[in-house]
Amino acid sequence: MSLESHEHEHTRFPDEDLPAGAVVDGAALTRDFDERYDFVVIGSGASGAVAAHTLASAGFSVAIVEEGPYAKTRELKEDVRGTFKRLLRDNGTQVLKGRVFMPMLQGRCVGGSTLINSAIAWRIPEDVVDDWQARFGVGDGITMKTLEPHFEALERDLNVHAVEDAVLGENNALFLDAAERKGLHATRMRRYERGCKGSGQCITGCPNGAKQGMSVSYVPWALATGRARVFCSTRALRVDVAGGRAVGVIAEANGRRVSLRARCGVFVAASTVQTPNLLRRSGLRARAIGQHFQAHPGVGAGGLFDRPVRMDFGATQGAESIALRSSDRIKLETIGMPPELACARVPGIGNELSSRLAQFGNVGVWVTNIRMQAEGTVGTQWDGRDVVKFTPNGADMLSARKALVLLGHMFLDSGAREVWPGVAGLPAIMTTHDEVERIADATMDPRGYSFIATHLFGAARLGPDPRTSVVSPEFEAHEARGLYVVDSSVFPTNLGVNPQHTIMALARMAATRVAERAARSAAA
Ligand SMILES: Cc1cc2nc3c(=O)[nH]c(=O)nc-3n(C[C@H](O)[C@H](O)[C@H](O)COP(=O)(O)OP(=O)(O)OC[C@H]3O[C@@H](n4cnc5c(N)ncnc54)[C@H](O)[C@@H]3O)c2cc1C
Ligand code: SF4
Repeated sequence: MSLESHEHEHTRFPDEDLPAGAVVDGAALTRDFDERYDFVVIGSGASGAVAAHTLASAGFSVAIVEEGPYAKTRELKEDVRGTFKRLLRDNGTQVLKGRVFMPMLQGRCVGGSTLINSAIAWRIPEDVVDDWQARFGVGDGITMKTLEPHFEALERDLNVHAVEDAVLGENNALFLDAAERKGLHATRMRRYERGCKGSGQCITGCPNGAKQGMSVSYVPWALATGRARVFCSTRALRVDVAGGRAVGVIAEANGRRVSLRARCGVFVAASTVQTPNLLRRSGLRARAIGQHFQAHPGVGAGGLFDRPVRMDFGATQGAESIALRSSDRIKLETIGMPPELACARVPGIGNELSSRLAQFGNVGVWVTNIRMQAEGTVGTQWDGRDVVKFTPNGADMLSARKALVLLGHMFLDSGAREVWPGVAGLPAIMTTHDEVERIADATMDPRGYSFIATHLFGAARLGPDPRTSVVSPEFEAHEARGLYVVDSSVFPTNLGVNPQHTIMALARMAATRVAERAARSAAA
């Protein structure tokens, strides 16, 4: 037995030893539930977990309703198919439907997308806050100054720090070196982790309990207060609105009705994709519901080296550059991809494919996230399911091409023997800088690229005007008192950096203010 697995066996993870009765597993429910809490929170991802913890820490009783299961650290396996099937929405098969069917990944489990994400922490850039002030009237409540204490608390709680030497890994190190050669400012990522072992498995959930996703941090911390309870495998059908006020949540689990009354309010934290239709099902009719969906779709390239890169070792995503964020809306990142996901991009068929797969240990993958300008919609399709329509526009495609050209040159500069750009109509394998330059004239049709979307925004915008927004700058629905929306559906725009940190800071700020007001009115 290796030292690592021996240690692992004796570690107690925060998702073990939860208070008795704190987790209600909806999948095993055999009776209807009717309970009363101060607050009900829908969703246990980045926004919901933080809001629930903030409210419970302020002394309020809280029910968290989560559609997916509670997957404990010890159950997590390095198995892409199994993880996608159990813990991702629609088994990981969701797509943005537009000119191109673009895969869109979301966690559907306690912890939401934080269970499968890479734990990269970025504060909201100041220019975005300025824009929200100038164009969207978010007011004095959302400024760098008001957000500062929330970012600080989150960074302390979740141990945000730069990737350490011991777990940098070659894919990340090569990227930093290549960026330096290009004169591009690049840095190690700052991440939410305690004791990362560099297993490169963030996308299937951290088996070491190192990544500080919500299922091992704010959810267990909320439950540990003794005032919170999580109903997992329980789907919120609607918020119960009576007399213009949110009074509870009607959910269902295993065919049973779960009715959770809310004395003080309901927080919707179901994500950009699920929140708009949840609001519609709750009777809200604002014209802005479902409008202004935005994303940071990503597209990447592979590089084949003559020496080991070993994407299976190192922080899954450990190095990045925002040098071109303002000029070109591009953020460059590394990603350690498991072979099951990367192999779709390996060139060749038959023997050629086999021989390349045999060299998979020598492959690195670098990607770009694009702060796309296109906007889409979130609606309901014939069977009641959420449908997101989105098509990148011309400017977005120019950014994608520019980023892929840059990544191709960076791979060659750092010694890659082959670059795999993955663009339709171009050679699948490029070996010279001249060939890489051809990407600059590649098709503008988004169907020619393998985009994937994981950063999602908008569709229940925040703003002062009920004609153009869904919630007020205090995160309260214009149409229903006591109904707060705190996920990234309220963002007036996308960010150009990874969103989890900003989502959590806004949720924490909103919940803190609501808790203060509720405490004041209880005392009056
Ligand atoms: C693969 C991947 C990698 C990523 N990497 C990073 C990264 O490194 N850094 C970063 O900043 N961001 C990253 N992101 C994005 C980030 O994880 C999300 O932006 C963030 O988690 C969104 O928070 P949220 O609370 O809005 O939604 P989520 O975290 O997705 O949580 C929403 C939860 O609500 C639940 N829910 C939905 N509808 C209902 C309902 N009707 N009833 C009950 N529950 C419901 C869902 O099941 C889900 O668990 C990544 C995302 C993915 C998919
Ligand atoms: S890379 Fe680090 S944080 Fe990610 S799964 Fe491995 S040990 Fe956990």
